Amino acid sequence: MKRTGSATAPMPSESSFQPALAEDWRNGGFGIYVHWPFCAAKCPYCDFNSHVSRNIDQDRWAKAYLREFERLSEELAGREVGSIFFGGGTPSLMDPALVDTILTAISRHWPLSPDVEVTLEANPTSVEAGKFRAFRSAGVNRLSMGVQALNDRDLKALGRMHTASEALAAFNIARETFSRISFDLIYARQGQTPEAWRAELLQAIDIAVDHLSLYQLTIEPNTRFGELAALDRLRGLPDDDSAADMYLMTQETLEQNGLPAYEISNHARPGAECRHNLVYWRYGDYVGVGPGAHGRLSLRGTRQSTVSASNPETWLKRVAETGSGELEREILSPQNQAEEMVMMGLRLAGGIDCRRYAILAGQELNPTVIAELESADFARMEDGMLKLTAKGRPLANAIIKSLLIQ
Ligand code: SF4
Repeated sequence: MKRTGSATAPMPSESSFQPALAEDWRNGGFGIYVHWPFCAAKCPYCDFNSHVSRNIDQDRWAKAYLREFERLSEELAGREVGSIFFGGGTPSLMDPALVDTILTAISRHWPLSPDVEVTLEANPTSVEAGKFRAFRSAGVNRLSMGVQALNDRDLKALGRMHTASEALAAFNIARETFSRISFDLIYARQGQTPEAWRAELLQAIDIAVDHLSLYQLTIEPNTRFGELAALDRLRGLPDDDSAADMYLMTQETLEQNGLPAYEISNHARPGAECRHNLVYWRYGDYVGVGPGAHGRLSLRGTRQSTVSASNPETWLKRVAETGSGELEREILSPQNQAEEMVMMGLRLAGGIDCRRYAILAGQELNPTVIAELESADFARMEDGMLKLTAKGRPLANAIIKSLLIQ
């Protein structure tokens, strides 16, 4: 286990116990993330830790996950779990019996909140839809579906394994099984006009249950699209102005239809926000189990970040041989924590609590920067909460940077 400190701040230690900091995670709650790193095929835009493998021994995976829960529950005994999230990869490729084994183990190790949210990411193919009932029986109560587009031409261009009608059929099966369903769409796709996106958005709103995640296509290095873009062979992407128009149209259309943005790319009917993602954005604590999973754990007066080995085989071997899939563990200085809290929290419509920042950082956010953001109508203060405005939200990254340069 590697422990490193901030380059600028003195190394915090587990003995420098500060009650306010030790309890800070309660502002965001506690959740568990389980990473399943396999997919049926690699999408050309995807830079997630996902791999294509035909030989997956799900029993071996079960043993590794269970060993990790045992180790982590010793450190975090008694914590009430508010959310569990199966992400990937494509967790709907998991055997429902494996999901059941994992959920049973979690409930043995930790008390679950009476309204615990258990989300599983699913691709909308007919094979996976056939497992929805079994996932429900295992304890999953919320599905997050990777639909991505509602026409076959674009699904093909995105390298997806399903057609639009297959996705809608899977969605209908999901509706019969789960009361909480989200689905993802990607916009600013090749050849997509703002008018076409608006028509697709209205179709999405028409079928939406309670949550939509709407992401702008970004071209990442180390992806097939990244390679094509570097060779100038990725044609037809909307220019920045069209993409910005699509973003604004997305915000307005969803707001008008009862699914306002509670985070830059996430929209929900009031009360249907994804509790697990709120743990991240409100800077709570989370256990991350599986290849490449990250965690934030408040322990003995410190907050620690954890990173697991990202290669699936390496992770499995590490767990089997050393009893831990963790590759790194770092004690975060209070200043690091304050910065992470701003980076995550300013994405939320509800903004960040400036008093919380001051407790963590030991100083206020720069009032001059805040005044400038307010006068440019990029942000506003309300009851001690700093929130981005509609004008500021597309500039979130730059605004966060300006706030953190003290
Ligand atoms: S299905 Fe999802 S995780 Fe898998 S490659 Fe495609 S985008 Fe990535």
